[in-house]
Amino acid sequence: MTDTALPRVRAEIDLAALRANVRTLRAHAPGAAFMAVVKADGYGHGMVPCAKAALDAGAEWIGTATPEEALALRAAGVGGRLMCWLWTPGSPWREAVEADVDVSVSRVGALAEVVAAARAAGRTARVQLKADTGLGRNGCMPDDWPELVGEALRAEADGLVKVTGLWSHFACADEPGHPSIALQLRTFREMVGYAEQAGVRPEVRHIANSPATLTLPETHFDLVRPGIAMYGVSPSPEIGTPEDFGLRPVMTVAAALAHVKRAPAGHGVSYGHHYTTAGETTLGLVPAGYGDGIPRHASGAGPVLVDGKWRTAAGRIAMDQFVVDLGGDEPEVGTEAVLFGPGDRGEPTAEDWARAAGTIAYEIVTRIGARVPRVYVNERPGTGD
Ligand SMILES: *Cc1c(COP(=O)(O)O)cnc(C)c1O
Repeated sequence: MTDTALPRVRAEIDLAALRANVRTLRAHAPGAAFMAVVKADGYGHGMVPCAKAALDAGAEWIGTATPEEALALRAAGVGGRLMCWLWTPGSPWREAVEADVDVSVSRVGALAEVVAAARAAGRTARVQLKADTGLGRNGCMPDDWPELVGEALRAEADGLVKVTGLWSHFACADEPGHPSIALQLRTFREMVGYAEQAGVRPEVRHIANSPATLTLPETHFDLVRPGIAMYGVSPSPEIGTPEDFGLRPVMTVAAALAHVKRAPAGHGVSYGHHYTTAGETTLGLVPAGYGDGIPRHASGAGPVLVDGKWRTAAGRIAMDQFVVDLGGDEPEVGTEAVLFGPGDRGEPTAEDWARAAGTIAYEIVTRIGARVPRVYVNERPGTGD
């Protein structure tokens, strides 16, 4: 590879866009603290650089799913408040307590495990109690809440835990007007009210994810927890485009065409021959596939910008490569093929790939694989801002 050659495929991550998105989201929730959600390797964008950029832009909190993610952030020197919420028994809770990570519990059994971790660590654990206000996934059911609150207060009296937060998560915040939103909000207020009456003094009460941060100000409470919107991707095409909310996509995925060749009419393309050239044409080889996280479900549909025009994945997307019909154009080998990006150069967006693959844009960016190098641009605060 010469110095000027593009890598096979790369994901460019624009940290100035991420910082701007944090500032924009903060303006949507001016009274609330900001938790930057960086689980799943920052939705595929790289957990550590994204967490640092979010802190640079004023985020007070970083949120992860697992304690391992939180510990990896601490190991990389990420300070600030850190919370993880996906509880599994036997996880490194003692290490999490020692690293000053807020841990979420939804059950008395989980609380007991943190209490044991606090004893072992010889310090107070920071615990946030999660309420199931209607999502039906994680969280403590209203009937079990008094017992969980009571046990937490007992552990607090013993100096083993400090209840720092009361929180919950929405099921349908991306569907404005969905009746579950008001119901969850009412249940949340009731469960928070119960805990506070019982003596809990939380630092933060929170329930708002990206769509709630953007469209439901009554849900902001003390803190908002946006994930996808911080990466400049709309939580749902129905509520608006990133541009509608002043957000800019952070990730651009591009490859270098590996082969360009003429093909006659009637030539089958890729596994299964699901595409056959209609007439004499040119075919371009995009050297990326489902092994890189390009969804195979977008076979025959995924859009790619090559030489100023949208082309479509012709036939099956394979593990390492797929083909686009260039319709007679003959761009040079090495020409950039942009799968998705912010859209200003006319390239498709992650939302376009989501539509092509029958999924959501969250999955498109998050599944970009470890084989795709992340190239960070505008990493230093003040550059590109
Ligand atoms: C992933 C997640 C978020 C962020 O959700 P987005 O829709 O990406 O904003 C917030 N809170 C919890 C508990 C999550 O799991």
